[in-house]
Amino acid sequence: EPRLPDLESHLRTQGWDDDELERVPKSWAVIGSVVLIQFGDCPRKEEVGETLLDLHGKADTVLAREGISGEHREPEITVVAGSGDTETIHTEHGTQYALDLRKVMFAPGNQRERARMGTAIEHGERVLDMFAGIGYFTLPMARAGARVTAVERNPTAFQFLLENAVLNDVTQNIDAYRADCREIEIDEPVERVVMGYYDAHDYLDSSLAALKPGGIVHMHETTPENLLWERPVRRLREAAETHGREVEILDKRRVKSHSEGVWHVVVDARIE
Ligand code: SAM
Repeated sequence: EPRLPDLESHLRTQGWDDDELERVPKSWAVIGSVVLIQFGDCPRKEEVGETLLDLHGKADTVLAREGISGEHREPEITVVAGSGDTETIHTEHGTQYALDLRKVMFAPGNQRERARMGTAIEHGERVLDMFAGIGYFTLPMARAGARVTAVERNPTAFQFLLENAVLNDVTQNIDAYRADCREIEIDEPVERVVMGYYDAHDYLDSSLAALKPGGIVHMHETTPENLLWERPVRRLREAAETHGREVEILDKRRVKSHSEGVWHVVVDARIE
């Protein structure tokens, strides 16, 4: 992770006192030309925004992230400083993500997981990405040579998914559907299913129906600390059992902290 510039000492030279500085966020994300920050109870937000623009020469807009809502994961944001242009192209491990941060989510904390998906697959492998978004996982996998069926039902995210397939020159590796992933019929079972959605466990039936014997599922969820790893593992085992299939847990990972005492996790499982 690149070191973030020292915001605090800059604000101090602008006359901020210790009490105020304590409430200044310690971290933020730079997504393409946009700085994204969660303010909490930070005072003098506009001044912080202006200072962040000075510190990040290539950024031209600072956005405050207020939250993310609904099953389409739509962001709630406000412009704090700069041009207010929320459309940008973010580059990560060579993958380019065009997006509009006013309209679609981008979780900076999932960076390692996005990169991992690009290295997990084998060339030519068939993958179903059930919650593709703008291509968070689809793009690194397609760039690594996977043939991805990518499903996304939010029309705005779907448009960016199509644009990003072109931008990354991987249109030939991606079949994209704007649909509910439960409605998609796969003609040939796939080797891998990616379930990048906190309620993924509700979709395990469709996921297992698409997965060939010996295939791998990556199931995400938000798990309270005291239910690690019992709950996600049980959900996978129960779903597999109803399909008369066996589960081998391959990996259990914390993607990021979701909220106090709750983790965004992913469990990798082979389903015979
Ligand atoms: N995988 C991304 C990541 O980790 O950054 C997150 C994608 S976002 C959390 C989940 C996406 O799933 C949203 O774009 C939402 O519109 C989409 N979605 C939710 N329910 C869906 C469904 N039943 N079928 C298809 N897409 C769905």
